[in-house]
Amino acid sequence: MPDRILIRNGLVLTMEPGDRPRRADVLVEGTRIVEVSDHIPSADADIVDATRCIVMPGMVDTHRHVWQTQLRGVTYDWSLKDYIRSIRFQAAVHYRPHDMYVGNYLGMLEAIDAGVTTVLDFSHCINTPEHADAALQGTRESGIRSMFALGLNDVPVADVYFNTLAQRIEHARKLRTNELSSDAGLVTMGISLSDVLVAGIERVTQEVATSRSLGLRITLHANAVMFPQPVSEVAFLEQEGLLGPDLVWVHMNQTTDDELRRVADTGGSISTTPETEMQMGMGHPAHGRFMAVGGECTFGCDVISNNSGDLFPQVRLALQTERMLRNDSELARYHGPDLINPSALSHLEGATINGARALGLDSRVGTLTAGKEADIIVIRGDAPNMLPVNDPVAAVVMHAHAGNVDTVMVAGRVLKRDGRLLADPAARLRLMDESHAHLFEAIERTGGLIPQPPTPLPW
Ligand SMILES: [Zn+2]
Repeated sequence: MPDRILIRNGLVLTMEPGDRPRRADVLVEGTRIVEVSDHIPSADADIVDATRCIVMPGMVDTHRHVWQTQLRGVTYDWSLKDYIRSIRFQAAVHYRPHDMYVGNYLGMLEAIDAGVTTVLDFSHCINTPEHADAALQGTRESGIRSMFALGLNDVPVADVYFNTLAQRIEHARKLRTNELSSDAGLVTMGISLSDVLVAGIERVTQEVATSRSLGLRITLHANAVMFPQPVSEVAFLEQEGLLGPDLVWVHMNQTTDDELRRVADTGGSISTTPETEMQMGMGHPAHGRFMAVGGECTFGCDVISNNSGDLFPQVRLALQTERMLRNDSELARYHGPDLINPSALSHLEGATINGARALGLDSRVGTLTAGKEADIIVIRGDAPNMLPVNDPVAAVVMHAHAGNVDTVMVAGRVLKRDGRLLADPAARLRLMDESHAHLFEAIERTGGLIPQPPTPLPW
């Protein structure tokens, strides 16, 4: 008989459409959920007591650059331009494969600790094939579920390994043929595109064609940079006939309602990362406008070089920002809003089932449903910031933080229990200290995070 885990007596949010929160048990056998119901017999099962706890699907982060963990918080007062100069053009150059391993391993542990069980990892520091291998190793060792979106973009390193796009495409093909051939594994493959504004539409068109020939989902940053003349990645791709359901568009703040409708109509998804968008001058989060044209919201933490890897506050920030924007339109009519929209539940769906759907994983995860893989989190309701749980949706969306996450499992494997990650804490410190010292010594040696004069950018 496979290993059995019984999560007993929790307040269960299955996130199935129309399901009400209810007190129930959840039985896991091996990698899968086999039953969600009242009073499941506990024979032979490892018991997780979820009394006074909320039990729900693990959250899905649809946009994160996990490799940046060692750079935590350095861009805290900076714009998007300074972020690009400091992280993409300076820090990224000094990453060794080992630093990719450390960034991904520790970054994925941070996600797990916060109740995130799936990350779309936009991995755009692939300076050599070994960088990709090391990032993948870090992800795998953490135990998380991830779509590893291999970056086809160039990084301005002095000693270039990939001289041409053809070499990057060949590397992607090899990875797809060998390490990441399965779409059924815990770590699956995707592609992250070069930025259209830097690499040009001709190159990006080739990158899209390659991704599709390999059967891979595609993610790209779009419409987050304000030029004197509006520049639209959506319009570029539409002109080339490239819109489609395999695209996960990130940010989209400057995208028009018509363009958002075409993305929704062609089955595409968007990822909103409210904290970086609001800080770095990308514009208002677009997820509410996307919802208005029939799309679904999903969320990401984006860059740990700026903000935390805790998805709870991102969901809350997105919700309240969208409410503020909708309320503003009422206020403009000299009218106080009568109804507050969108609902908290819509954003919890954004962080769970919608995110799973965006990644094409909704038949496997995203709800607590018998037959699905057991990506489950247990959130304590007895902490000072959670007690009493009058409404579990409100408790999660409006009050919870990473520290409230008691238990995390991915495909039935427990990665956090009793509020503690099971990964070795001493190894975590050792890995961080060595890699951090290497990176910051190299950065200082080459003029700091933004060497003077700063690199000119095209906008
Ligand atoms: Zn990003």
